[in-house]
Amino acid sequence: MFFERSGLHIFTFRGIDVLVSFWYGFLMALVVFLWPSLGAGTFVGGVILAIAITISLLVHDFGHAFVAKRYNLGPTIMLHAFGGFTLTDREARSDGEDAKVLLAGPLVGLVFAGIVGLVMLFLPGVVAASPVTSSLFQGLFTVSVVWSLVNLFLPIYPLDGGRLFHLVMRRFTSAEKARRIALNASIFTVIPVAIIGLLQFGSFLAAIFALYVIMDNVNSLKTNQPLVMRSGGRSSKKASSFHDDLLEEANEAMSEQDWREAARLAHHMRAVGSMPEKMAEKVWTILGVATTEMGEYEEAMNYLKRAPKSSAVKKAIRRCEDEMGGTKAAG
Ligand SMILES: [Zn+2]
Repeated sequence: MFFERSGLHIFTFRGIDVLVSFWYGFLMALVVFLWPSLGAGTFVGGVILAIAITISLLVHDFGHAFVAKRYNLGPTIMLHAFGGFTLTDREARSDGEDAKVLLAGPLVGLVFAGIVGLVMLFLPGVVAASPVTSSLFQGLFTVSVVWSLVNLFLPIYPLDGGRLFHLVMRRFTSAEKARRIALNASIFTVIPVAIIGLLQFGSFLAAIFALYVIMDNVNSLKTNQPLVMRSGGRSSKKASSFHDDLLEEANEAMSEQDWREAARLAHHMRAVGSMPEKMAEKVWTILGVATTEMGEYEEAMNYLKRAPKSSAVKKAIRRCEDEMGGTKAAG
């Protein structure tokens, strides 16, 4: 819902597109107009805060995006309702690669905060040149530090911390268990964070954010959709007989036009572990076609892009494009 890949393209830096969603614009408008009424400052103060938030988020996300680009994952930055997101065309090939992309955001954010801090410390003349510059530096420093620490240390999914926590859990337990632990940890972390935000800072946005996260997490818990998908890992030379059985069942479901069951089985195959390239291609085809039939066109396109272009896949792509009314998914 909130994390769809549609947004207004605002600029491209070093081959990385930056998009901004309607919700981000809406949130920044709230910051600008609510800041003075909170007794915290003036209208100009609100504008400066919105600028500081935007710059800090961009620095953070370019951290993710540059590492993702190095791994050839095709990153796009999206400024969204609750922060920035770096979307990629391709999934990371391993958990290690994924972790480096995730860590890069908050670490670059902390380095940036350090530089801003040094300027404030050693060039007080520049900072105090006007009330505007002093609030801008203060805003950049505070937002960058807070956003970096939240993303490093709070296991809230789908923020970086929640994704990192999920990757750590995957080292200790099965993919399915790790998924459930990560989503439950996210729910139990976000509730106290929202209460503190609401009581301590009077921030109703914290409450809305928590509500959104809880809805998203509960929804993910109900479906069998894995949180990460790996395209052809090292150990993917041979299919397990378990995979063979699941594929057979999925094909059967497809021939019976039981799309939901076919998609469920295909997701399950991906959650179980990596597969040989040929089998993965079949899974992408099943997911793409079944999800198209279920009317989830945007999601279907993500699968269809990875599937070999058979006539069934081409037909599904055409249908998705028609149904989405020519609105092209970004990335
Ligand atoms: Zn991030």
